[in-house]
This record gives sequence, C-alpha cells and structure tokens, in this order.
Amino acid sequence: MGRIVQLSEQVSNQIAAGEVVGRPASVVKELIENSVDAGASEIAVVIVDAGRTLIQVVDNGKGMSIDDAQLCFKRHATSKISKAEDLLSLVTKGFRGEALASISAVAQVELKTREIGAQIGTKVVLSGSDEGEVEEVACQEGTQFAIKNLFFNVPARRNFLKSDQVETRHIIDEFQRVAMAHPDLSFRLQSNGSDLFNFKPGTLRQRIVAIFGSKYDERLVPLNESTDVVKINGFVGKPSFSRKTRGEQFLFVNGRFIKHSLMHKAIMKAYEGVLAPGNFPLYTVFLEVDPRRIDVNIHPTKVEAKFEEDQAIFAILRSTIKRGLGKHNVAPSLDFDTELSISIDPLPSNKIVEEPQVRINPSYNPFESKSSSRSSMSKVDFGGEVIEEANLDEFFKPNDSEEVFETIDSPKYFQFQNRFIITTQGENLIMIDARRAHQRILYEQYLSEGKGGEEEFSQKLLFPEPIELNSADTLLLLEASEVLSNYGLEIEERVEGGVEIISVPTGLAGKLQDCIDSVLEALRDGSWADKESRREKLAAVWAQAGAIPKTKKLSDEEMSAMIGGLFSCDSPATDPWGKSVFVVFNAKSIDDILG
Ligand code: ADP
Ligand code: MG
Repeated sequence: MGRIVQLSEQVSNQIAAGEVVGRPASVVKELIENSVDAGASEIAVVIVDAGRTLIQVVDNGKGMSIDDAQLCFKRHATSKISKAEDLLSLVTKGFRGEALASISAVAQVELKTREIGAQIGTKVVLSGSDEGEVEEVACQEGTQFAIKNLFFNVPARRNFLKSDQVETRHIIDEFQRVAMAHPDLSFRLQSNGSDLFNFKPGTLRQRIVAIFGSKYDERLVPLNESTDVVKINGFVGKPSFSRKTRGEQFLFVNGRFIKHSLMHKAIMKAYEGVLAPGNFPLYTVFLEVDPRRIDVNIHPTKVEAKFEEDQAIFAILRSTIKRGLGKHNVAPSLDFDTELSISIDPLPSNKIVEEPQVRINPSYNPFESKSSSRSSMSKVDFGGEVIEEANLDEFFKPNDSEEVFETIDSPKYFQFQNRFIITTQGENLIMIDARRAHQRILYEQYLSEGKGGEEEFSQKLLFPEPIELNSADTLLLLEASEVLSNYGLEIEERVEGGVEIISVPTGLAGKLQDCIDSVLEALRDGSWADKESRREKLAAVWAQAGAIPKTKKLSDEEMSAMIGGLFSCDSPATDPWGKSVFVVFNAKSIDDILG
C-alpha cells in the first residue's frame, strides 16, 4: 500500500494559512485590499482585542452574487485573473485567490454581501473551512466580512501572538499602507469601540497630513517625473525634519506597497550629505512601471517586487528626489571647515576662466589653542547639554592608563575637520572620532548607572514635555513604558494624543524627540525581546541621542575630557554599535603606508 495520501482541502488550507495569515494584521490587509479591488469608495475596519476576537471590514464595493459568495472561500478562487497572461497586466491587489480560503481555515467567518442593484443579499457563515451555511439576507449594498476568534483551531499560533499593543500596531501599519495608496477613498479604523483613524477622501498631501499630523504639511517636497521606464509621484520630507525612525517611509509600485532595498538606497542616496547621521527621511513614493516589466509574484504576502530595469529606475529615482530637494532649497549646505574649504565660483558664461581661489588662513596652526577663555571656563558644553566642572572629575575616573593623562596635561592634541581629535600617546599618533568616543563614554556610564534605576540617574523635568506621535507609535511606546521607566525614561499618555515625558536619563533633556524615535526603532527591530540586549540597546540609544554631533568644534577642555573619558572606558576601541572609535599610527605603520 502506498504511503502518499492527498491532503484534504481543509488541511491544505490550514497549512497555506500559515503563510498568508501570520497575524491579525494580515487578515486586515487582505480584507481591505479586497474591498479596494471591489471598487469601494468607503472602507470601515473594526477590531476588538487587536483582532483576536473580531475583525470586521465593511465596504460599499460591487458586492458578490450568491454563487460568488460561496465560491470565494475556495482555494484559488478569484475573479481577478483567469489565465497566466493576466498576471502580466495586473491592476488589482489580489490575484491568488488564497486569502479568503486561508482565513476561513483558521477562524469563524461571517460574510454578508449584496451586489449593487440586487434585490437581496447573501449571508455565508463558516468555521474552519467547513461547508458553511448559506441564506438570503437583507443587507446593504457592498460586502461585510466578520472574522471571529482568529486561530481558534490553531492554538500554537494564537499563543504566538504578541501583546495587544504590538498586534494593533501591525494592524495600523497595514491599514496606513493601504490608506496611503488610496487617498481618494475614505478609510476608517475603530479599535475596541474608539476611532483610531477616520480618513476623508482627498489628495495624497491631505492623506499624509491626516496620517502624521498637521505639522507635516510644510515638511513635504513634491515629486513628479515621467520617463519611458518609470513614472514617479509622491512626496519626500525635507531633510531637517528627518527622524530617527524608519516609520515614515512608504514605497508603492503600481499602487502596491513594497519593500525594496535597492529603491530605498536610491532615496537615501539622494539625501547624501544633507541628513544627520542615523536619521531617516520621510517618503511616500509612488512608482508606476509597465506591469509586464515587474514581478510581484515573489511571495504570497507580496511586499517584494522585482524590476526588470532596476538600475535605470534607481538612477531616475535618485536624481528626481535630489532635484526635488534642490528646487525646494534644501540642497546640501556643506559643513566643511571653512578654513580648509576650497571655494570655486560658478563659471560666468562670457568670462575668461581664472584659476580657482583657494582660501587658506595662513595663520592657522592646528597645535595652537583656540579657546580664549581657558582659565575662566567653568562649564564644558558638549552640544546642548552642559557638564558641570565638578562632573569633569567624574569624567577622569581613577584608572590605570596613567600615561594618557601625562600627555593631556600640556595639550598635544587638536581637532581635524571638526570631527577627529588627533593626539599622541608615547610613540603613537591617535586619531579619534569624537562623536563615537562620546557615545562610548556615555554608553558605559548609562550601563553602569542604569542597573537598578537609581534616583540620580533619572532627572525629573520641571515641565513635562509633550511629544507628538501618531496613535500607532503612541501605542507602541506605552507598551514599553514600564521597561523604559526602569531605564530612566518616564512617559505618560496624553489625552490629546502622543505622550508626555515626565523624566529622562541625565543629560538627555533637549534631545527627547531623537531619544523617542530611537526607542521606537528598537521596538520595531526586535532587539527588545531579550532583557540583557534590551539594557544594552537602551544604553546605546541614550548614548547616541546624548552624544555630540558628527562634526562639532571642541574646545581644548572638551578634547581633553573626551580623551580622558574614552581611555578610562572598559572598551574604548569601539562605539556601542561596534564601529571603531580611533586609529593608531606609529612609525612602523606610517613606514608601511609610505612604502
Ligand atoms: P484574490 O483577492 O486573490 O482574488 P481572495 O481570496 O482575497 O483572492 O478573494 C477571492 C475572491 O472573492 C475575489 O477574487 C473576489 O472576487 C471576491 N471578493 C473578496 N472580497 C470581496 C469584496 N470585499 N467585495 C467583492 N468581492 C470580493
Ligand atoms: Mg484578495
């Protein structure tokens, strides 16, 4: 007797469901995309308990006939394609006919639908892919799906779900992606009885503002480009408003949200030189390409895509954004040391070309002290926050690298390009990246202090500082609030949305937005799960937010404090992210270089 048996449709649907329906958010995505495909102009989503108990999607689209209402739950039942060639001219979101089959395999489903103009509607109730019950029903035109008790028959998956806040956050992400792609439709999302979003139909600009808040209106730079290979539309954010979170980046191809690392790179390249390190610009970019020249069929959840002409699109996308930014006067304002910069004036068309002038300050001596008020200096300012002189002693904790302190008694150091501190130590010449050094110093301070949540580690703000966040980020942050308060960051929910900062780790006042953005990023990238890595991550995040910028002119006192602080660290060689803090040259290595 053979061992192979063909799986029943029920079992194979359950297996397929694992891929299509990973969590409540995937159900929401599939259902609202179906509503868009059905030509709806109004789509309302209701979730209860982050979609565990109920996900309901109501649309005013074209509805289904009684036959279709039963057929739609069968695997590979779709009205959107009928032959392989149709895949090449896809205009709908769906095409696999898998979603409803998969969803109904792992939940209790109720469908009510009435075709436009039909006298009566159809109701289908089914549970875990059983045959279901069909009856006529009076209902409004369009389609309503109610998905109850998701994963009721797959306990492993049900238990695998994260907290309500995290699952709701995923739902919001999916909801926003579809809403962003279709600003001409009205979208509503209700969670446990209260409205999270209610988007009126409008322009893309209005939709972006509805999602992120009214402040965003002035931050947007429009894009508009049309070539044979690709059409580009949408908005990018002005670099000065970029944030430490990737949460404001949307890329669509032919109306479909995708993640595409090459296109992301193209966009980031356009911002080269104008973004603060570690910051991410907002973008909502729509690419339109010939459907025959793109493959969206890579994965069932369809957030990836392959372009035939990706190199060309890369170049066009990059230059379109670069030009857009330039037009809106947000082109690079180069931050080179003026003393060393070469200034070449633009060529006048009718003039004889003269030799470009190199402006050099002849009296510039890097070994000369620039600080005029050395002795009267009582405070050292590391860019925003002030370290009292008393704390400088703390900076120079007793340590065993005595020779370092000998060298810094009489300054044998200077700053290069407002970025590197050059110093000598014995036979060696050391070139230190000041920002990385500062991050390392702060990191070790936070790590050693943040252990027990001691009082002085955290500083209560005189006036709680409001941080505006969209409702999704608010939820995510509140979810982590208990842990955060153990690390010195105390937040509370605000009635008008967003959060309020009550207290912060010492030294971070004034950098709260960056701090919050970095935390949001950590919450998203999964490094949150394990306790020890969370502690390190937060210390690194605090250090990153608190450190001086990449380029900053430092006084002699600051340089000496930085050198001393760095070499009393446990691991001075790398910053908290593993990047090298300094390079060492000695006679031999210089000989090697010289050859
Ligand atoms: P796909 O979207 O890939 O075709 P689905 O399983 O998501 O597969 O849906 C199967 C079919 O059910 C669709 O092709 C469509 O004909 C029908 N359908 C699903 N949702 C709706 C809706 N909201 N309004 C009208 N028809 C729908
Ligand atoms: Mg579908």
